[in-house]
Amino acid sequence: MLISKLPLLEQATSQKALFNKTKINYEISNSLSVEKAYRQTNALKSKRQLSIIKQSNESKKQIPTQNDESILKRIQATKSQSDCQIFEKLQQEFEQKYQEQVRISEDLKLENVKLKMQLEEQEQQIIYLKLINSDLRYQIDNSTLAQQLKKLELEYKDTYRRMDDTLRKAIDENYESQIKMKNLQIKSQQLEQFTFSLRQQLTCKFCRKELQNTITVIPCAHNYCQRCVSGYVGRCFACNDDSVVQATYHNEYISDLINMYKIFENIMIILKT
Ligand SMILES: [Zn+2]
Ligand SMILES: [Zn+2]
Repeated sequence: MLISKLPLLEQATSQKALFNKTKINYEISNSLSVEKAYRQTNALKSKRQLSIIKQSNESKKQIPTQNDESILKRIQATKSQSDCQIFEKLQQEFEQKYQEQVRISEDLKLENVKLKMQLEEQEQQIIYLKLINSDLRYQIDNSTLAQQLKKLELEYKDTYRRMDDTLRKAIDENYESQIKMKNLQIKSQQLEQFTFSLRQQLTCKFCRKELQNTITVIPCAHNYCQRCVSGYVGRCFACNDDSVVQATYHNEYISDLINMYKIFENIMIILKT
């Protein structure tokens, strides 16, 4: 009852080795499923063997006269026929699955190539986008806004410079004005002194009032009102010495001078206000 399993196993192993060449991840599971099927077949085979043995034993019991060798031959023939059928079935199954795996593998290879191409395309797009990005940055740097900003900055600098110039000019002018003012003050003081001196000249030396009908004494040239006789008769009141008054004369020029001084005084009042 010995049945050789070696050829079957050898072929199954070679099929398995060939199957392993597909290098697909789920090949192991498929291989396992095939192995499982193989084991199941073996189990079935063992069951059959047992049943055949049983039958054989029963036949032996039932027909003890029958030749054991012929029965054994028949059993062996039946057995090998059954094994051949199982093997062919397995081989077909292997072949089918192998072809399927090859097809899947080729599909995957094609898909891989497609993906690689897509990846390369995307990489090119990334490079292109990077270029666009740098270009955009450059454009932003040189955009209208930046130009406007630069223009404003220049305008601001120009305005600042002009304002600075104006300020310096104003300071200079102010300084000049101050000098002018000082000169004017000096002139004004001189004018006041002159006015005071003129007023003194146009005032009677006796009554200390504005000269009325002016009388001038010769030789000292002091002026008195005509009515202030005590100032100029015999001797000059202002000189107050023993010098003799040689002569006097009615000075019309002083009257004109007084009129001119009055006009001048009014002008001075207007200028001060
Ligand atoms: Zn007088
Ligand atoms: Zn005098």
